[in-house]
Amino acid sequence: MEERGEVKRDPRRRLPAADRVIRELKAEAPWLPDWAVAAGARRALEEARRRLAEPGHASGDPEGLVASALAHAQGLARPHPARVVNATGVVLHTNLGRAPLAPGAARAAAAVGSSYTDLELDLREGERGDRLGPVSEQLTLLSGAEAAHVVNNNAAALLLALNTLAQGREVIVSRGELVEIGGAFRIPEICERAGVTLVEVGTTNRTHAADYERVLGERSALLLKVHRSNFEQRGFVCEVGLAELARIGRRRGIPVLEDLGSGLLVELGPEGSPAFAPESYAPARLRLGADVVCFSADKLLGGPQAGILLGSAARIEAMRANPLARALRLDKLCLAALDWTLKVLLEGRGAQELPVLRELLAPVAMLEQRARTLAERLANVGGSGLAIEVLPEAAPIGAGSLPSARLPSWVVALRSPQGAQELAAALRTAPIPVVARIRDGAVLIDVRTLLEDDTSALEAALGFACGAPR
Ligand SMILES: *Cc1c(COP(=O)(O)O)cnc(C)c1O
Repeated sequence: MEERGEVKRDPRRRLPAADRVIRELKAEAPWLPDWAVAAGARRALEEARRRLAEPGHASGDPEGLVASALAHAQGLARPHPARVVNATGVVLHTNLGRAPLAPGAARAAAAVGSSYTDLELDLREGERGDRLGPVSEQLTLLSGAEAAHVVNNNAAALLLALNTLAQGREVIVSRGELVEIGGAFRIPEICERAGVTLVEVGTTNRTHAADYERVLGERSALLLKVHRSNFEQRGFVCEVGLAELARIGRRRGIPVLEDLGSGLLVELGPEGSPAFAPESYAPARLRLGADVVCFSADKLLGGPQAGILLGSAARIEAMRANPLARALRLDKLCLAALDWTLKVLLEGRGAQELPVLRELLAPVAMLEQRARTLAERLANVGGSGLAIEVLPEAAPIGAGSLPSARLPSWVVALRSPQGAQELAAALRTAPIPVVARIRDGAVLIDVRTLLEDDTSALEAALGFACGAPR
């Protein structure tokens, strides 16, 4: 509707033309590509128009406009994802991309990424070959499973297993294991999308063998056990262990699928050590009677993003033949990195070569020494206002691996006059960003998760944070 009578000046008219914003942006940041500058200007103008249309926002602010266009253009042009320094001490930080690859695994991925490969070609026969190639056998050698398959991630592995083994039939799960893993991954919803009927048994805190026995019948296809991953139950609790569940299944001819979440193919440390994780060790879970297990390759395993399935030849073959397998298949870069990672494990060099295992197994005395060395280096760049202390600390492992474990570590605690929030924010915006925790008014740099070259990146970031006015 046209406004009649008194004409109101539309404040949006006072906004500069897109051309002018683009010209100013280019003058300020000539290194930004044209497409990003144009998109940044467009976005900033749209936002300004929206703001001005709201009541009570009468004035345009051309300077703020260029600044917000610049921020948006920079965000678009920046590589993504980009390297950061993980100073949180959380080895498997989902927001930081979980497991860092071993340099050798990264090189293997890069090498096949930029060339043609024999991905699905049998070079000897000149015929179509198996995409996973030797990786399946490497997995069976490591795990003792009869057969193996690998898909895009563990959520995909669970979806494929449920759909293959139980479509149109019943899957029995304890109410204590109907978990949400994060990122909207919920067991009941996955079951629904897999086309299976979820049958809940027991209560939130207690499930008994008899609860499973009672519901087993004609339509039962699968007993599902799910690792709780990101929480623990204590108090008046009871669950049916894997071995017992497997016995129930065997008596009724119903297989057991276990979603391990975080899976291991080598044992982590002796019993009693903080990273000891028998419930993640896939070979033992198979020996205890799981017919199929699935787990992520980029959690405790320390490899690329992938979902590994281990089990009997017939069941794994059925999963490979499922049309969903094609939709969930692993890409060649991850496959190359996984191949490299599994070979290192087969050679018994995991603890030396894989960053995740190295970090998890690092002795506390070594971490203390590393923290003291780092503190000295940071003292040289931090300036006089910065107080530096070396302290013992503990951090969770992350990514739903061992929810109750906190690994003892050492940190360099930084206290600056600008305050911990400000310092942490400045470190995050350094050219190589540093992500750290805050506690008791200090920014904590946990040395457990620092990789090679991170010390110089930390020095640069701290110099940036203490020197550069923001
Ligand atoms: C992490 C996790 C998943 C999801 O694995 P992705 O590899 O992220 O898809 C599934 N189930 C459990 C129990 C988990 O801990």
